[in-house]
Amino acid sequence: MAITVKGPIVEMDGDEMTRIIWKMIKDKLLLPHLAMDLKYYDLGVKHRDLTDDRVTVDAAEAVREFGVGVKCATITPNAARVREYGLKQAWKSPNGTIRSLLDGTVFRKPIIVRNIPPAVRSWKKPISIGRHAYGDIYKAVELKVPGPGKAELVYTPASGDPVSLVIHEFGGPGVVMGMHNTERSIRSFARACINYAAGEKCDLWFGAKDTISKTYHSFFKEVFDQETEAHKADLEGAGVGYRYMLIDDAVAQIMKAEGGMLWACMNYDGDVMSDMVASGFGSLGLMTSVLVSPEAKYVYEAAHGTVMRHYYEHLKGNPTSTNSVASIFAWTGAISRRGEMDKTPEVAAFARKLESAVIRTIEDGTMTKDLAMIAEPKPAKHALTEEFIDAVARRLQGA
Ligand code: NAP
Ligand code: MG
Repeated sequence: MAITVKGPIVEMDGDEMTRIIWKMIKDKLLLPHLAMDLKYYDLGVKHRDLTDDRVTVDAAEAVREFGVGVKCATITPNAARVREYGLKQAWKSPNGTIRSLLDGTVFRKPIIVRNIPPAVRSWKKPISIGRHAYGDIYKAVELKVPGPGKAELVYTPASGDPVSLVIHEFGGPGVVMGMHNTERSIRSFARACINYAAGEKCDLWFGAKDTISKTYHSFFKEVFDQETEAHKADLEGAGVGYRYMLIDDAVAQIMKAEGGMLWACMNYDGDVMSDMVASGFGSLGLMTSVLVSPEAKYVYEAAHGTVMRHYYEHLKGNPTSTNSVASIFAWTGAISRRGEMDKTPEVAAFARKLESAVIRTIEDGTMTKDLAMIAEPKPAKHALTEEFIDAVARRLQGA
C-alpha cells in the first residue's frame, strides 16, 4: 500500500548524470512506496532554452505557492555549453534565479555515516552552514590607487547633505575598496537562519568581527540580536539556543565542537567555511543543500553539480559509479518537510526509513567509488551507480 503525500511537491528536473540518477531514484525508491502530487517542471537546459527560461521562474513561483520543492542539479551555461547544446544564450544560473525570487538563504548540511570518518575527530553530528549570499566583497567596487592622494567615502542622501569620511591619505600607490549591505537582506538572512534552526531543532551560532568593525559588522550583530529576540518563542519552543561569538572564536569553537549546530556566516566567511566544512566531512556526494526563504518556503537539492564527466562516460556506454546519496536526501528532505506541514507523520517516517536504508547500505560496505576511496575500512569493491540504488531499494523493501 502506497503512503499518500497530501500536499504537492514542486519537482524540478535537471541535467546530465544527475538527471539519470533522478529518474532511478523516483522509479526505484519513491514511486513504489508513495502516492505523490508532483508539480513537475523540466529545468533541463534544453527546456529552459525552449521556454526562454520562463520555466525557472514558473517553478520558483510554484514553490512560493506550494511551499516545498526538490531540485535536480542543472547546468549553468557558459560559452562552451551554449555551443554544446545550441542554446539561444547563456541563461542565468537557475539556482540564482530561484534564490532571488524567493529571497532565500542556502544551507548546506553533510550526511554522516559511521565508516566515513570526518577529518576532525570531535565532529560527530552534522555542522550546517548558512551563507549570507548578498553583498560585502561580492558586490564591492575597487580601485587601484596609482600614487599619492586622498580616498574618501561619500554618502549622498536622496535629500539632504552628503556625509563623507576620509578612508586614507595615500603617500604612494595602494588599493581601496567600497562595499555595502542592506538592512533588508541582512534581516531576511537572519529570519531564514531562525526558520532553519527551529525546523532542524539545532542551535544557531553567528560570528562576526564587531570588535574591529564597530559599524558594519556590528550592524549584522544588532539585526541578529533583534530577530532572535523577536522570534524567541519559536526558538525556545524548538529548544534552540542562540549564540553570538567573534568570528575567530567561532572558528576555534567549531573545531572543538561535536557538531549539531547551524553556523550562520557572513558572505565571505560562508564561502570559505562551507568549503572547509564540506571537505572536513568527506565528500561532495554526501552534502545536501536547502534554500529557505524568510516566509519558510523550502527547496531541497544536492550540493554538487551535474557530474558532467560521469555523464560523458555514461553516454559512451561505460559503467559509472556516481553517488546518488545527496540527491536521495534532497527528496527525503522535501518529503519529510511536506509530512510536517501536512501533519502526516507516516510520510515523515517514510523519509526517515529511506534515509536509514541509505546509511545502513553504506555502513554495510556497499558504496560508490567516491566514498569507497575514503571509507574505513575500505570495501573490496565499489558499487556502480545503479547497483547502489538497487541495494538501497532492496533494503527498503525488507525494512
Ligand atoms: P560537479 O558536477 O559537482 O562535479 C565535479 C566532480 O566532483 C565530478 O567530476 C566528480 O569527480 C565529483 N563529484 C561531484 N558529485 C559527485 C557525485 N554525486 N558522485 C561522484 N562524484 C561526484 O561539478 P562540475 O563538473 O564542475 O559541474 C558540472 C555542471 O554542474 C556545470 O554545468 C555546472 O554549471 C553545474 N552545477 C550545478 C549546480 C546546481 O545545480 N546546484 C551546482 C554546481 C555545478 P570525478 O570526476 O573525480 O569522479
Ligand atoms: Mg567557496
